[in-house]
Amino acid sequence: MASTTTLKGDNFDRQLFESVIKRRFFFTEAFEIYRLSPNFKGDNRGLFDYGPPGCALQANIVDAWRKHFVLEENMLELDCTVVTPELVLKTSGHVDKFADWMCKDPIKGRLFSWDYLRADHLVENVLKARLARGTRGLVKDSPKLDQATVDEYNDTLAKIDNYDGDALAELIRRHDIRNPENNNEVLPPVPFNLMFKSTIGPSAAAPVYLRPETAQGQFLNFKKLLDYNQGSMPFASASIGKSYRNEISPRTGLLRVREFLMAEIEHYVDPEKKQHPRFRDVSDIVLPLLDRETQLSGKTAPRTIAIGQAVEFKVIDNETLAYFLGRVMLFLMKLGVDRSKVRFRQHLANEMAHYACDCWDAELLTSYGWVECVGCADRSAYDLTVHSRYTGTSLAVKEALPEPVKVEEWQATLDKKLAGPRFKKDAKAVQSAVESLDQIALERLATDLEQNRAVAIETPALSDGTTRVELSKELLSISKTTRIQNTREYTPNVIEPSFGIGRILYSLLEQVYWHRPNDAARAVSTETLLVLSLPLAVAPNKVLIVPLSSNPQLNPIARKLSARLRNLGIANMIDASSASIGKRYARNDELGTPLGMTVDFDTLKDGSVTLRERDSMVQVRGLEDEIVAAVRGLVEGTETWEQVMGRMEVFGGQEEDQ
Ligand code: AMP
Repeated sequence: MASTTTLKGDNFDRQLFESVIKRRFFFTEAFEIYRLSPNFKGDNRGLFDYGPPGCALQANIVDAWRKHFVLEENMLELDCTVVTPELVLKTSGHVDKFADWMCKDPIKGRLFSWDYLRADHLVENVLKARLARGTRGLVKDSPKLDQATVDEYNDTLAKIDNYDGDALAELIRRHDIRNPENNNEVLPPVPFNLMFKSTIGPSAAAPVYLRPETAQGQFLNFKKLLDYNQGSMPFASASIGKSYRNEISPRTGLLRVREFLMAEIEHYVDPEKKQHPRFRDVSDIVLPLLDRETQLSGKTAPRTIAIGQAVEFKVIDNETLAYFLGRVMLFLMKLGVDRSKVRFRQHLANEMAHYACDCWDAELLTSYGWVECVGCADRSAYDLTVHSRYTGTSLAVKEALPEPVKVEEWQATLDKKLAGPRFKKDAKAVQSAVESLDQIALERLATDLEQNRAVAIETPALSDGTTRVELSKELLSISKTTRIQNTREYTPNVIEPSFGIGRILYSLLEQVYWHRPNDAARAVSTETLLVLSLPLAVAPNKVLIVPLSSNPQLNPIARKLSARLRNLGIANMIDASSASIGKRYARNDELGTPLGMTVDFDTLKDGSVTLRERDSMVQVRGLEDEIVAAVRGLVEGTETWEQVMGRMEVFGGQEEDQ
C-alpha cells in the first residue's frame, strides 16, 4: 500500500477513512444484502451504489465540470445511447483491441472469476511486495534482495504500462511470479476483451455491446454537429454518461469499477492548425509533467514546467493538447484537489490505446498510489476516418480557400455505365470508395493498374458482407490532372480529455480528509473527529442549521432560515436532534459541510445568529440578514471567510443548557 498523508500531514489510515465514508453512506457495494446470502454465487465486485452525500457530491462535480468546460467554451453537449451495435465497435477497433492481458490460476480459475488476474497488476503487485519485504517470493526467511535485483524490479515497475502480452509472459516466467493468494503458478497471459456483450430484440440475432466510452456516439454525430456549428472549426462536443468495462479483477473500491460515470470532450481541430485560440489563458500555468523519456530512464519524479515552455520545447506535442492539460489542472483545483498530489504522466508507446497518437493522464495521489483520473489523448483522425471509410459517409470538413490554387494531382474515374450493371446496389459504395482514395494510394494504384490490369480496393460494407472489390482497367482509370481548387477538405484531428467522475470523487475524498485533535473540538467526543474539507463548490450540503436546544421557539426560526437559503439555491440541512451542538457539528464535519448556523436564545431577543466555518471552527455573529448575505457571498465565491471574519464580530460560544 502506498503510504500517503491526510490533508494535515498525519499518516493516512485507510481503514479509518473507509469507516467514515461507509458510515456516512457516500457509497456502498451494490447488492450488498444479496452478496451476504449463501446462495449468491455472482461476482458483484466493481459495482457500487451512491448514497445521499455521494450523489450530491457527484452531482456537484458534474455541475462544476459542465460550467468549467461546456459553458465556458460553448461545447456542444450530446446524450447518446449506451447500447451500441457490434459493427460500430468493430470499426472503431474496440472489438479486436479493447482488451487487457489476463492470467488464469489454473487450479482455482475453473470456478470463480476472481481467480483471473490482470497480468500487469499481478507483476506490479508481486514485485512491489517483494521490494517491500526485501525477500523473494513467499518463502520465509529468504535472503535480502541484492541491489541489482532491486534496480531491475524498480526499472520494470517504472515501465509496467509499456509491456505487451509476450513481455508480461517473459517477466512472469523470469521472476517466477505466482498468484500471491495461494502461490499457484499462473498460465501465460491471454487477451480479455473488456466490453460487456449482449443481443438486441427477441430474435437476439444482432450482437451489441454496452459502450466502453461515450466518445463513439459523439464521432458518429460529427456531421450533424458540424452543421449545427455552421460548418465552423474548431469546436468541441461533450457528453456525460455511464460507460461499462468488464474489468478483469476490480479490487480497489471506486477506482476500478465495471460501471462508471464518464465526462468526455471531443475537440475537433484542423490537423495543420493545432494552435488554440485561448492558449494564452493557460500558458503560464506550471504543471508537474512526467514525460515518456523520464519514465523510460526509470525515474518517477515529474519536472515542473510552464505550459508555454512545455509546448515550445515539444514536451507536449501541440497547443490544443497543452491547453486542455491546463484547463484540467484548473478544474481539479476548483474541486479542492491538493496541488502537491497531482501530476500529468505521458503514456508510454505500448500503453497507448489503439486510437491514440499521444496521451497524458492527470493522476491524483491516493493511498493506492497514483491514479489516472483524466486521460487526455490526441486521437488524431483515427475514429472519424474509420467510421467514414466503413459507412461511405463523409466526416470531413470542407473549407473555402482564401485564394483559388492550381493543383496537379492523381484522379481516379470509375466508368459508371459499366460499374452500374456490374455492382448493382453496391455501385454507390464502390464509387464512394474510389472517391475517398488519397494521393499516395492513387499513385501506387496507377502503377499497379498499368502493370496488372486490375487493382483491389477497400470499400464500405457491401451487400455480401465483404469490404473489398477488384476493379479492372476497363472499369477504373487513374491519371494525373491539373485543376483549380477553391476548397480544402480534411478530416479533423480529435483531442479528447476524458474524465472518470468516480475516480475523481474518490481521490478527492481521500485528499480532503483529516482528523482533528479531540481537545480542539472542546472534548465533545473521545472518538477521533474526522473532517472532510470539501470546498463549498462541491460539498454535498453547504450549510448546517442547528437550533441550540429543543426549546420550541427555536425550530420555526431554523425552518425559516432553511427556506431562505433554499430560495437562494443553497443546499442546507437542519439538525434539530437532541445531541450536543458539538456532536451535531462533528457529524457534519464528516460530511464535509463547510458552514454551520446556530439559532439560540439571543436570536429570540435580537435576531442575531452565528456562522461557523468547518475547518477553523471559528464563529462570527451577526443579524440574520447579514449572515445570509455572508453565506451567499461565500457560496458564490464573491467573498472569502477571512473577509467575513474581518468585518463581523468573532463569537466565543453559546450556553447550551437554558
Ligand atoms: P480511458 O478511456 O481508459 O483513458 O479512461 C478514461 C477515464 O475513465 C480514466 O481516466 C478514468 O478516470 C476512467 N476510467 C477508466 N476505466 C475505469 C474503471 N474501470 N473504473 C473507474 N473509472 C475508470
